[in-house]
Amino acid sequence: DTLPPLSERLSVFHRLQQAIWVYDIDEARVVWSNNSGLDIWQADSLDALRERDLGADMTETVAKRLCQYQSDFISDESAEFREIWTVYPNGEPTTVNAIYSGIVLDDGRMGMFCEARKDGQFEPEALRSAEALLHTSVMITLYTASGEPLYRNPAARSMARSLDETLDNHFHDASVMQLLSHSTDDEINLVSSVNTIHGETWHDITARRCLDAVSGEQTWLISEVDVSRLKATEARAQFLAEHDTLTGLPNRNHVTVNFQNRIDQIMAHGQSGALIFIDLDQFKDVNDTLGHASGDQLLVEVARRLTEIITEQDAVARLGGDEFLLLSGPITNPMLVQNLCSQILDAVSRPINLQGREVSVTPSIGISVFPDDGRKILSLMRHADLAMYHTKATGKNGYAYFSQELSDAVEHRINLDSELLVALKESQFVTYFQPRVDIRTNQISGAEALVRWQHPEKGLIPPGVFIPACEASGLIGELGKLVFRHSVQAQREWACLGFDLKVSVNLSPIQFGDEQLVEDLIAIIEEEDGNPALIELEITESVLLGHDQSTIEKLHALVDHGFRIAIDDFGTGYSNLAYLHRYPIRCLKIDRSFIQQLDSAQPIIELIVSMARLFKLDVVAEGVETQDQLDTIRAFDCQEYQGYLFERPIMFGDFTILLESHQQLAA
Ligand code: C2E
Ligand code: CA
Ligand code: CA
Repeated sequence: DTLPPLSERLSVFHRLQQAIWVYDIDEARVVWSNNSGLDIWQADSLDALRERDLGADMTETVAKRLCQYQSDFISDESAEFREIWTVYPNGEPTTVNAIYSGIVLDDGRMGMFCEARKDGQFEPEALRSAEALLHTSVMITLYTASGEPLYRNPAARSMARSLDETLDNHFHDASVMQLLSHSTDDEINLVSSVNTIHGETWHDITARRCLDAVSGEQTWLISEVDVSRLKATEARAQFLAEHDTLTGLPNRNHVTVNFQNRIDQIMAHGQSGALIFIDLDQFKDVNDTLGHASGDQLLVEVARRLTEIITEQDAVARLGGDEFLLLSGPITNPMLVQNLCSQILDAVSRPINLQGREVSVTPSIGISVFPDDGRKILSLMRHADLAMYHTKATGKNGYAYFSQELSDAVEHRINLDSELLVALKESQFVTYFQPRVDIRTNQISGAEALVRWQHPEKGLIPPGVFIPACEASGLIGELGKLVFRHSVQAQREWACLGFDLKVSVNLSPIQFGDEQLVEDLIAIIEEEDGNPALIELEITESVLLGHDQSTIEKLHALVDHGFRIAIDDFGTGYSNLAYLHRYPIRCLKIDRSFIQQLDSAQPIIELIVSMARLFKLDVVAEGVETQDQLDTIRAFDCQEYQGYLFERPIMFGDFTILLESHQQLAA
């Protein structure tokens, strides 16, 4: 059942007027031709034609198209293609009407049987448009009104899953076909996903109603351009615009639109939900001590843990920095929100390994509930943020719900902050001085600077009211330096009058976070021509227990410059006595509360005094109000005291008068 050779099979065609040749697609050569074919190819003999390498100046698209034909012939032995084709024998264009079909070559490979007629005159316009249709990468298909394919150009053919695929099967999305058939427009333009041999791809499609030039029937002329790459780029851009590249979580842009949609959805069903604002308490520390790479790693891990906790209906986003936002709902039971928050607390505070170190961070959480606390994402976020600040202000590592009272309190603080700023600018802060007295001689041995706010309407405001706000806002840095300057000025003025008084100044732990602290204090003492040996800086135990190396370095630098250091409110903190010999401390100030409960506190005071003697420290008893109290502490061998019994904190001028009258008394 082997076929006779081509030349035998085809010899009958030699006599035909119509040109016929057989083309070997793989070799790009004509392997057989009748005489009319030789005419078209302008070849003297079949052997001469066989010698020609037609692949030599064949374009890529033509080569591809021929390959396509070959596979079409293999899969469908009756496949037949008609086209107007221009060949270039010896470089001269010759246009023919061609019909191609498959033919098995002598060695069994699939070749192409070509019939060509050179009849008729081709308008240049028609010729060129026919060529364009063949070569264009735009996929063009003509379908009947019911969607049966009538014609595909090579580009369309190369992408079609099968040659007889109908129009409705071509669209990936069935609704597109509906849209087309219901439209009254002559031309419809859309971008849709379609089925191709490469799977689902995105095409920019123009569908045009027109009449078939052959049958006169209604047809669809569909032209398509592959926009998958564009679509992917667009999707990527969209993703990037709405996601945080570090953690892959949705970002703030995404939240404002998508969280709002979700909230609307939940509320439309008459249900409620919660917006949970999460801020990490120690993120800055990690960043500062372990570096940004570790900070990033921490954020990624926290994001992962949060994603793990939430259910399918919840969503989590990163707002930026160390802030995360969680949307939970619908919520059927308020306990669910509390459970979720406990889970967040647990998950976030589990130790994280960063560069071989176990690091723990805790979250501060604020919650707002919709629709009770608002219906719009922005106000809900603001409210949850406010609640989060409340958590931060009250010990961190916990959660708080938004409430109106909370909002009022924060607003009050914000007003206070702006008022304090004005107060600093307009010099409304005054420094009072309270005498420190030598118990044995009853002479004034020093003064403690205590700041007050001379408010234009509210009168004199004690520091307990505004120092915490100054610490929270950072204003304490400026205020602390102001009081320090007043103190140095007082020390020098009194020295000029012949009173060599120690002047103590309170330093807030917050001030030790300022890298300029030491330089600034030294600059002030030099500007004011003060004597550091007579300036005592009062710090609290918490400063020493912070284990912060830079704080310790600052303390040493201050001592090296001649300042004295005292520990204020001694006994109220951790009272870890081990640090007493480790740090350059000169003085302990026994907290007022011990003096005021002398009966129960006697053993503690005794212990403090004997320990101070051991470490050669001065001891000052604070808050002495009665003669009884004074007599008791004198018995403990405590050298100095401060308190209302001797004098309250008073203004500089009054203090100077007090000094002078005491001097006269002594004289
Ligand atoms: P502190 O450093 O413990 O100051 C002693 C406080 O006890 C002062 O309160 C003083 O007026 C009060 N006091 C003195 N003797 C008696 C007494 O016999 N009985 C009673 N009940 N109280 C007495 P003040 O002036 O209201 O200051 C409160 C706190 O504010 C200070 O406590 C200090 O921690 C802080 N502070 C004051 N001025 C400054 C400052 O310039 N900088 C910083 N960082 N803190 C300051
Ligand atoms: Ca003090
Ligand atoms: Ca004190």
